[in-house]
Order: sequence, then C-alpha cells, then structure tokens
Amino acid sequence: MTQIRTDIAVVGAGVAGLAAACALSGAGFKVVLVHRGPAPVRDAYKVPDGPFDRRVYAISPESAGLLADVGAWDALAAGRLAPVYDMRVYPRAGLGVGDADELHLSAWEAHADALAWIIEQDNLQHALSVSLPKKVREVTAGLDGIDWTDDGRAVIARLDDGSRVRASLLVGADGASSAVRAHAGMPRVGGTYDHHAIVAHLRTARGHRDTAWQWFGEHGVLALLPLADSALDAAHTAGAFAAVAGGAGSFVSEGTHGRAVSLVWSTGPDRAGALLADGAEALSRSVQAVVGDLLGEMRVIGEPAAFPLARRWVPDPVAERLVLVGDAAHQMHPLAGQGLNVGLGDVGDLAAVLGEARASFAGSGFDPGQPLLLRRYRRRRAEPVAAMLTVTDGLKALFGPRAAGVPGLPLRLLRDAGWRAFARQGLLRRQVLRYTTRQP
Ligand SMILES: Cc1cc2nc3c(=O)[nH]c(=O)nc-3n(C[C@H](O)[C@H](O)[C@H](O)COP(=O)(O)OP(=O)(O)OC[C@H]3O[C@@H](n4cnc5c(N)ncnc54)[C@H](O)[C@@H]3O)c2cc1C
Repeated sequence: MTQIRTDIAVVGAGVAGLAAACALSGAGFKVVLVHRGPAPVRDAYKVPDGPFDRRVYAISPESAGLLADVGAWDALAAGRLAPVYDMRVYPRAGLGVGDADELHLSAWEAHADALAWIIEQDNLQHALSVSLPKKVREVTAGLDGIDWTDDGRAVIARLDDGSRVRASLLVGADGASSAVRAHAGMPRVGGTYDHHAIVAHLRTARGHRDTAWQWFGEHGVLALLPLADSALDAAHTAGAFAAVAGGAGSFVSEGTHGRAVSLVWSTGPDRAGALLADGAEALSRSVQAVVGDLLGEMRVIGEPAAFPLARRWVPDPVAERLVLVGDAAHQMHPLAGQGLNVGLGDVGDLAAVLGEARASFAGSGFDPGQPLLLRRYRRRRAEPVAAMLTVTDGLKALFGPRAAGVPGLPLRLLRDAGWRAFARQGLLRRQVLRYTTRQP
C-alpha cells in the first residue's frame, strides 16, 4: 500500500481546489492534490479554443488579485476575458438604459479597472492547472474515507486506488456533494431553492457595451453577462448567423463591443423545465420578452442547461486537522454571481492565515493543522460568508416570483419605492460599489 506524506492534502480540483493547491504551495507548504480524474489535472484542462464553455463566472477584482498572486491571471486565454465596466439592474422586465428605476454601477465611478471579469470555467481551470507549482504532487483518485492517527498528529485520506495520503491538514475543496464533509461528519444546514437556473449563451444584434445586465420580476431573475467576441466559434455560430442573415440580417458589428452574452435565468422549476423543453427558438423569444429591444434581436447559441439551486452551508467549516473551502462549505443563489468568489475568498484567507503563521515560526516542523490556526481561519470566514448568504437570500426573497407568504401589493409598492431610493442614493450606491470591488 502506498502512503504519501505531506503537509497539506487538497481534495478536489475544481477552481477552488486548484487555487488552494497553488496558493498553499506558494505559501511554502508541501502539497498533494487529490483529483478524481480521469486524467491528471495538468493534462485534463486544455487551452480553450472551441465554443464557449457553458459555465462562466463573474470574477471579482479581489478574486482576480488571488489569481494574479498565484500566476494564473497571466495564463488565462486573454481573448476570452470580458471585462464588466458597468452593471445595470432593473426591478421589472422590459426596463432599459436610462429608466428612472435603473440601478447603474460603473467601474469609472468606483475608480476600478473593472467591476468584474467574465471568464469561462475551462479557461480558469486551464490557467490554474498550468500555474500549479511543479512541486505539487498529483494523485488521480477519489476519496474513500478519512482516518485520524491515534496521536492526533495527522489525518489520513484513504483513496479509491488503495493508496493513502497522510497530512497535517486536509482541505476539502470537493464541491457541493463533498465527500470530505460527509466522511468527517460535518453537519450542513439550509436546503434547495424553489429556483432552477437556466444557463445558455446568446448572440445579440447590438453590442453588450461591456455591461452586465439583470432584471428581477415575476419571471424570476434574469442576468446577461458580456462575453468576449473573440471566443465565438465559427462552427457553432454559423447556424445562428445563417438563420438571421436569411431573415432580418440584423447581426451586424457594432463598434468594438461584443455581441455574445451568457444567460443565467433563475426561475421556478416548472417554468425552467418548460423553457428548456420548448427549444432554443422559444427560449430566445422568452429572453427577448424580458429584455426588450435593448440588445436587438437575440438568438440562443449552443445547448442550454438547467441547474437546481440551493442555499446550504456548513456552520463550522473546520474540524480536527480539516477545513472546507468553496462549495464544499457553502452554496448560494447565483443572482449576485458570488459563489465562486466567496470560495476563492476562503482560499485566500486560508493561505494568508497559514502562510503568515509559518513565516513568523522560528523552528522547524511547523504544523499547518494546529487548532489555533484553524480557529483563526474560521473567524476570518464567518462574516463574509454569512453576509453573502444573507444578501443573496434577501434579494431572492424580495424580488423572486411570489413566494408563499411574501409580497402582496402593498409590500411590492414599498419594495419598489425602496429600490428607487437606493438606485438614486449616491452614498449607498458607492458603498455597494466599494463592496463589489473590495476597495477600502
Ligand atoms: C448557474 C450558476 C451560475 C453561477 N455563476 C457564478 C458567478 O458568476 N460567479 C461566481 O463567483 N460563482 C458563480 N456560481 C457559483 C459557482 O459555480 C460555484 O461556487 C463554484 O463552481 C464552486 O467551485 P468549487 O471548486 O468549490 O466546486 P466544484 O466546481 O464543484 O469542484 C469540485 C471538484 O471536486 C471534485 N470531486 C468531487 N468529489 C470528489 C472526490 N470524492 N474525490 C476527489 N475529487 C472530488 C470534482 O470532480 C470537482 O472537480 C454560479 C453557480 C451556478 C449554479
């Protein structure tokens, strides 16, 4: 039986796990990355050169900073990055630029390079996999169980290929169905939302103006994120072009702004099912009915999909010689586009807590799994995780389709009045901007 010894074992090579392996290795720890495969991550993630990945993320400036720190930012396929310079949010379908109820946030106002960057998942995973320091050892296997040594000095990950990894600290970055969490018996609370998210990409006749758009209302929450035009794959857009060229011929270039957007439409499960079942043409028309003519004619490209949504979190993401990061620790509604950003916040704080302690430790044999440090990590993460869960949940409850016991007409009027005040109030908006861009 093979037994590998290391300081830290990271289980899971999604974005959070890859980032954790890079950051913890960069902080001076010996790291083993356990990845379920099928191939080692250094081979599994390729430079994206095909159609858009269905999964795209709005990456915050703070997350971009972490990616830069581990060397992954410069490894991203730059032509597939779309900056978000503006966010325009509306309390009802059909509203558009300049409407009195528009909430407009701009990078210019925030003195930031961008409010966020829209990046495909495969682009992120590839950039992180090539940034993995050579000294990070990869093991391609799944997790079968966890044991703790009798002397309390180590945790042992039992893998399904029969091997074992003995570490001072185990980091569970294995997503919402985390096996690490299950094997460690860490309780999770929360539940599913009455929402599924439809994700799809659309070609638009007008440029998106590097803007992220969002409409709340009876239809649910519909967001459009700008995509980089250069990622458009000729093969998979040819159909859309031909179809339109034969019709209105309206897909013409508009300045330098991209003309592809990523849709995240959160709505009730029945409606989501019907929207998917009716096919791409009908979905395009339904999106258009909410968005109006703002971006001109819109056509779905590629295959749409739906994801059930949940709000679940582990009240204590720390156990003996073990921490959880990313979706293993918390899942939230995607309406604020923050789930992965909060996960990368976990990674940044974990690497900072352990790295700072290690740097000020004089002797040899520093122990990254000592309870004091794990408690420090828990304290640092408690507030940002709770705040984001509360914000996303509150917005969903206030603006979602009529949930049981929520808004009758008076409450909706109050909500709309509050929205208007917020949208126009400079100080509040600036605070949101500061939070979004994490500026002091
Ligand atoms: C529709 C939608 C839109 C979203 N948009 C955004 C957005 O714009 N911005 C944002 O910040 N967030 C967004 N999110 C949230 C984001 O998708 C998640 O927070 C993020 O994907 C979680 O990453 P992770 O690395 O923690 O987990 P995962 O991506 O789930 O990765 C977990 C990894 O662990 C591996 N694994 C699992 N079990 C084992 C095992 N037993 N052994 C070994 N490996 C294992 C898996 O194979 C996988 O590689 C969105 C979510 C949804 C549903």
